[in-house]
Amino acid sequence: MKQTASTCCYCGVGCGVLIEHDGQHIHNVKGDPAHPANLGRLCSKGSTLHLTGDLAARALHPELRLGKSMARNRTDWDSALGHAAEVFARTIAEHGPDSVAFYISGQLLTEDYYSFNKLARALIGTNNIDSNSRLCMSSAVVGYKRSLGADAPPCSYEDIEQSNCLLIAGSNMAYAHPVLFRRLEAAREANPAQKVIVIDPRRTDTCDVADLHLPLRPGSDVALFHGLLHLLLENDHVDHDFINAHTDGFEALQALVQDYPPARVATLCDISEAELRQAAELIGKADSFLSLWCMGLNQSSAGSAKNNALINLHLATGQIGKVGAGPFSLTGQPNAMGGRETGSLSNLLPGHRDAANAEHRREVADYWGVAGLPEQPGLSAIELFEAVRDGRIKALWIACTNPAQSMPDQQLIHQALSLCPFVIVQEAFSTTETCHYADLLLPAASWGEKEGSVTNSERRISHVRPAIPAPGSARGDWDIVCDFARRLEQKLRPGQPSQFAFARPAELFDEYKGLTAGRDLDYSGLSHALIDGLGPQQWPFPAGSRQGTPRLYTDGRFATADGRAHFVAEAPRPLSEPADSSYPLVLNTGRLRDQWHGMSRTGTAAQLFGHVERAQLSMHPQDMQARALEDGDLVSLSSRRGTLILPVQADAQLRPGQSFLPMHWGNRFLKGLGSNRLTLSNHDPLSKQPELKQAAVEVTRAVLP
Ligand code: SF4
Repeated sequence: MKQTASTCCYCGVGCGVLIEHDGQHIHNVKGDPAHPANLGRLCSKGSTLHLTGDLAARALHPELRLGKSMARNRTDWDSALGHAAEVFARTIAEHGPDSVAFYISGQLLTEDYYSFNKLARALIGTNNIDSNSRLCMSSAVVGYKRSLGADAPPCSYEDIEQSNCLLIAGSNMAYAHPVLFRRLEAAREANPAQKVIVIDPRRTDTCDVADLHLPLRPGSDVALFHGLLHLLLENDHVDHDFINAHTDGFEALQALVQDYPPARVATLCDISEAELRQAAELIGKADSFLSLWCMGLNQSSAGSAKNNALINLHLATGQIGKVGAGPFSLTGQPNAMGGRETGSLSNLLPGHRDAANAEHRREVADYWGVAGLPEQPGLSAIELFEAVRDGRIKALWIACTNPAQSMPDQQLIHQALSLCPFVIVQEAFSTTETCHYADLLLPAASWGEKEGSVTNSERRISHVRPAIPAPGSARGDWDIVCDFARRLEQKLRPGQPSQFAFARPAELFDEYKGLTAGRDLDYSGLSHALIDGLGPQQWPFPAGSRQGTPRLYTDGRFATADGRAHFVAEAPRPLSEPADSSYPLVLNTGRLRDQWHGMSRTGTAAQLFGHVERAQLSMHPQDMQARALEDGDLVSLSSRRGTLILPVQADAQLRPGQSFLPMHWGNRFLKGLGSNRLTLSNHDPLSKQPELKQAAVEVTRAVLP
């Protein structure tokens, strides 16, 4: 038996794994004790990775159909990519570069992202490349950039162990980032003085470690953070020296939060004034204050404001840039960070640059040796699918993600995919809802089979290594993209040397890292070989470094033009769709402990259904009683966009008026069942991140034919 060190492919914790294999089959997975993210631990998902390799669920060979009414037939790579290049070249010639688009994924490796970006922006000349990180972390990107000047989480996982006071907001860390939660549990045991505050409308398993749980009204986070700052000011717990030396904009925020006294905030958030005061006391008296947050803040039409209101608390108390302190967003996907770094949102460019910035476009164009990069803004996820539906995008390439389940307002997405003249789906699993719409299915290598790098939530870059060959004729994502790009180059600029002549992922990494040089994230000193020698490293890691950087802004200088952090003063905004007399309940969506995303991988392991076997709606017992419902009854769960039929169960951990539905189940498991049949596409005006977490719904007893 051989052993290959790699990383887990699920969440943004980025745990190191040791894959035990015989060169053809993976037999077991263990936590890597040498990996700094997990120190040998794995959660239920990571430790069962070897049980999820079901070949029956895999895409094994390219498949092509030449008409929407025809079935897809197996073909070879030459025919598949030749046809794709033909269609893309013709579409670009007839309708311009913005008639094609790419929708990619936080599951991709950094080298995959880079090749897609270079293809879209340098060769084709479109900014229409967005990723499912738009649904995940784009509000955190805006939050960091507005406050601190760069999209850079400033903390390390070890700060969880070293902090005196942790605030966990909008994150069921116990399920979504389990190994980090284990680290927190261990820290609590070792240091009983450590305090934990959890802000979440639901009482989740994460609350088990909380000294204080604030079950706020859904959507009232900004009011809560302003109320906390009001009390920090009142109690003289702000750091005026830090504010004066390192920030600007405090006066405007100070004036704003005067309107959020405890009594008003308690009413807005539907919590007690005493709880609010207790939270402000814990934060204000802490030597070190760390906040952790995830989708509860990000997946909101006010996601940017929520991020900035929380970061404001750190700037006001000077709790940033030191051990155990800082605002620390937890990334959902394994390489959402790599996507942000390589410019894999339509408004970004590689190396933490902005597509709207002419100087940034010039820098990247010069690096790539092209005349210029497109000025026309690219479309974000929702806008992109609207453009597909409206016929403005005529060729869409989807890689490693399942928008036919994961995007909000599923009616829009299914309509768009069925109308799009040419859909490429590049996937490891042929079972996703999105594969149904593929005119061309390209089989991709998956975990344990592919090579590249990932960046986890603490900015740590790991080398992802293959243990076994990909099944059938599946290939690495970067390899598929570069092969296609070389074919398209021959059509768009014949006779010129290829810019996609990469033979190995390490070559892509080496080219890409040059675009980080001199930027806030500079990791031009890293390479696959160096990571192999030194172990996974945190950026920045400039040329000549021998170790990474655990914390940012330790000298009080931020990544803004003048080095000062900015307070952001914004009033709260209501939910896009508050409950009303027609739809009187708020639906909250979220994760289960043992499933991942749309279950394309975890759904192949029977063991992972032991915790929760089926999709069911959770409601507060009072709301069930009012509707004469009992556990196990089938109910109609309706929003303005659709209805699902599913069983209901009582859950006293919810607030009355609230319901909860796991996000994992889609059509593949139960017809019509998927939370995003109900969610809405309203999104944050800055981050364009949709309000996936909340929708107004009604629940009635199902009437079956
Ligand atoms: Fe994988 Fe995340 Fe679990 Fe670690 S915590 S084993 S990265 S799913």
